[in-house]
Amino acid sequence: MNTIDTYDFAGKKAIVRVDFNVPLNENFEITDDTRIRAAIPTLKKVLEKGGSLIIMSHLGRPKGPAEKFSLKHVIARIEKYLGVKVQFAEDCQKADAQAAALKPGEVLLLENLRFYAEEEGKPRGLAEDASDDEKKAAKAAVKESQKGFVAKLASYADCYINDAFGTAHRAHASTALIAKYFPNDKMFGYVMEGEIKAIDTVLNNPKRPLTAILGGAKVSSKIGIIENLLDKVDNLIIGGGMVYTFIKAMGGKVGNSICEDDQIDTAKAIMAKAEAKGIDLMLRRNVVVADNFSNDANTQVVSNFDIPDGWEAMDASSESIAKWSKVIDNSNTILWNGPLGVFEMPNFAKSTNAMAELLAKATERGAYTLVGGGDSVAAVTQMGYADKVSYVSTGGGAMLEYLEGIELPGIKAIRE
Ligand code: AMP
Repeated sequence: MNTIDTYDFAGKKAIVRVDFNVPLNENFEITDDTRIRAAIPTLKKVLEKGGSLIIMSHLGRPKGPAEKFSLKHVIARIEKYLGVKVQFAEDCQKADAQAAALKPGEVLLLENLRFYAEEEGKPRGLAEDASDDEKKAAKAAVKESQKGFVAKLASYADCYINDAFGTAHRAHASTALIAKYFPNDKMFGYVMEGEIKAIDTVLNNPKRPLTAILGGAKVSSKIGIIENLLDKVDNLIIGGGMVYTFIKAMGGKVGNSICEDDQIDTAKAIMAKAEAKGIDLMLRRNVVVADNFSNDANTQVVSNFDIPDGWEAMDASSESIAKWSKVIDNSNTILWNGPLGVFEMPNFAKSTNAMAELLAKATERGAYTLVGGGDSVAAVTQMGYADKVSYVSTGGGAMLEYLEGIELPGIKAIRE
């Protein structure tokens, strides 16, 4: 398989799918350019090796062309980091002449791919009362025109690089379909390589014991991950609001805590599987509860199996943190996804912050630590620990699907 390091880019045009889906304020200024900075090493490498770049991305969720979602807002920032002038193609389907004229070292950015429905391959503008037949016909039509859309993008370049891990779980034109035009000239960028290596280290090649910590609000969004991880981990710590569905399933009293009644049977099945595998989910514990969902609510510490009416679980107790810390101190590979309390409120961010600190310490003594998922990434970053863990995954949904054991279309398209 080709890699950026081994491929000969001299005199070649590389079309690179990046994730420049950055947040913009009302003046169209970038408020967080992490994703742009992440892609720079890949882009620089192509230029250094004598290639030229055609950069493509989506931005937001436009329904068609719209100023608000234009990628022209990111041109100056790319120029700043690359140190090269960036040309712009105002229509990603009409860039033939600009692409053809590109010389080694030059850069062309294509306008937002999602200005076209063909990028995602989903019909737009269907009437709400459209019949099933009409929906089917519209879908078939967009799939058909998607072929021309992909072929056009592919025609601009000699090779294809996918460096957009954040959209690797989508089988879109630019993230998967385009790869077949470059059977011998396709590869991952450094962001993708890094993400794949980090998750594979945890899932397929961990130094044991392997411990996973899963938090967050809902069991329903993590079922697939829990099931896949139960086959791989030595320890699984379940935290956050998700715990209360399990507590209820065991016959406990959850008060006003967040709880998914329709997931009780799932929780029971997960507990049975964990027991069969000899994994202690450590679900029963003391917890910090509050008398309403606000930062300055009254609080007390109670057993999470017997939460009084009118009170709700908000944060893990110091006792739980101490127990988890023992497990983490004995682990050599640690994966963390999802906050362990309502960390958006400073008074209930203690256990989430404590976990960030535990992981930083574990990393220092040589454990491999992977943090992923928007909220836990925000927590380690806020605490200044992003550089103190082994890897921080930037691909929220893509990482979750990868952890479920699903082969992501964006990865498959490069590998096959
Ligand atoms: P998720 O998107 O499922 O990873 O959930 C993240 C959300 O879980 C964050 O907004 C947290 O505030 C929330 N969360 C964590 N613990 C609790 C809890 N005990 N009760 C309610 N929400 C929680």
